[in-house]
Amino acid sequence: MEFLVAETIFDVVVLGGGPAGYTAAIRAAEYGLKVALVEKTDRLGGTCLHVGCIPTKALLFNAEIWDHLKHATEFGIQGIGAPTLDWAAVLTRKNGIINKHAKGLDFLMKKHKITVVRGLGRLTGAAQAGVHTVEVAGDEATQQVQAKYVILATGSEAKMLPGMVPDDRILTNIELLSINDVPKSLIVIGAGAVGMEFSSLFRTFGAEVTIVEFLPRVVPVEDEEVSKEITRLFKKRGIDVNTGAKVETVERTESGVKVTYTDANGRTQVKEAEKVLIAVGRAGRTANIGLEKTKIELERGLIKVNEAQETAEPGIFAIGDIVFGLPQLAHVGAMSGMIAAAKIAGRTFKPVRRDRIPGCTYTEPQIGSVGLTETQAKEKGFDVKVGKFPFAGNSKATILGTHDGFVKVVAEAKYGEILGVHILGPQATEIVAEAVAVLELEGTVEELMFTIHAHPTLAESLLDGFGAVEGMAINA
Ligand SMILES: Cc1cc2nc3c(=O)[nH]c(=O)nc-3n(C[C@H](O)[C@H](O)[C@H](O)COP(=O)(O)OP(=O)(O)OC[C@H]3O[C@@H](n4cnc5c(N)ncnc54)[C@H](O)[C@@H]3O)c2cc1C
Repeated sequence: MEFLVAETIFDVVVLGGGPAGYTAAIRAAEYGLKVALVEKTDRLGGTCLHVGCIPTKALLFNAEIWDHLKHATEFGIQGIGAPTLDWAAVLTRKNGIINKHAKGLDFLMKKHKITVVRGLGRLTGAAQAGVHTVEVAGDEATQQVQAKYVILATGSEAKMLPGMVPDDRILTNIELLSINDVPKSLIVIGAGAVGMEFSSLFRTFGAEVTIVEFLPRVVPVEDEEVSKEITRLFKKRGIDVNTGAKVETVERTESGVKVTYTDANGRTQVKEAEKVLIAVGRAGRTANIGLEKTKIELERGLIKVNEAQETAEPGIFAIGDIVFGLPQLAHVGAMSGMIAAAKIAGRTFKPVRRDRIPGCTYTEPQIGSVGLTETQAKEKGFDVKVGKFPFAGNSKATILGTHDGFVKVVAEAKYGEILGVHILGPQATEIVAEAVAVLELEGTVEELMFTIHAHPTLAESLLDGFGAVEGMAINA
């Protein structure tokens, strides 16, 4: 939907309609501001909705069902036989979910009277008499959108290895999410959340999966014990995990790809597969948006902001994946958008705190964590006390038939303040929400040991985890 915007001076123009941008736009409208949202593609939702969070989690849910079906007889369900996978139907369901939510966003824009402008937005420089002008190049014409404030939310894209471009065998998340069939074999370069989730997913569907990670451990932002245990569990599932491994070359062969790397012992290794996924991080989309005409400062290609998400150029904010110093996660982008909107509207806000951000990896089993790892807490000089409770002692986990993993609580010894919670196990990405609230409210071990958790639930594992800090878990 194209609007004639030439005569309007908006309160805010947002560049980019991903989770950071659309959240900022909606919240600004909720504050009563007049908002324009510029999006270069024909659909709102960004990486998250179209080629990130939502499609991956949709496919991972298919994988979960597939796993359950394979174990149906253990649950007394007969007659399933040998299930077969209709990959085309899997993709159709995934696309249906995306379309439903993309339409939902269009509805929300209308509901909040946000003017959506289609086209590539670019800054034209500093504000003139308090008004910024953004140039928007659409398919047919270029128009100017004027506003008192600008919020940059142009997001990120997959980094490639030097000299490489994605094709039908060397893939990023975009190509892999629309692949025609489950590959027989897949090499995944990079073991952050994206690489780990795709490894887990395609292994469940039968692919031979090899992980090649440069750093000494997988999911390197997580607590060391989580990395160690998920490595063991991935290996048990038949995933070939190689850490401390430096990729030297990625070549196309007659039938697939060949990856040569130097392993942790300095030896050259060669692996071949049908496809390779490059998941080595994401670069901010900061090029060609007119930053050079402003005072905006970059650090490693990302925009520097203060705690209100303001850049060095007065009146211009930056949020989401293009921001330096924050993890590139949809919920961080959305919250940074709410903060920018509040600041512009003159309302109070709480800045994003790095140690209050939940990190979720939707592997089998899942990882959900928040706060300091044991090592980080020690490095910060805390006198640390740790409690660990295995899911083997949790009755709901037994009911679900999934016992792998643990809850690890990192607390400060003197007052018992909870500094970090690290969960590896069933529904870890859901039950971590309690831990986030606990940290936000500066909860202590003692308070949590007397907080009633419903029975039987997976969340009870947290109660035992808190008790374990004092050596007093009930079920272990
Ligand atoms: C495979 C994968 C799985 C992920 N899973 C999760 C997950 O489970 N949970 C989680 O929290 N995060 C996840 N992420 C990360 C998440 O997708 C990002 O953090 C999030 O999308 C960032 O939001 P954003 O709005 O900053 O940017 P984006 O989502 O990238 O959106 C930016 C938008 O700006 C538009 N745009 C760019 N330049 C311009 C311009 N010049 N003018 C107009 N429009 C422009 C783009 O078209 C796009 O719509 C995942 C990422 C990947 C790749």
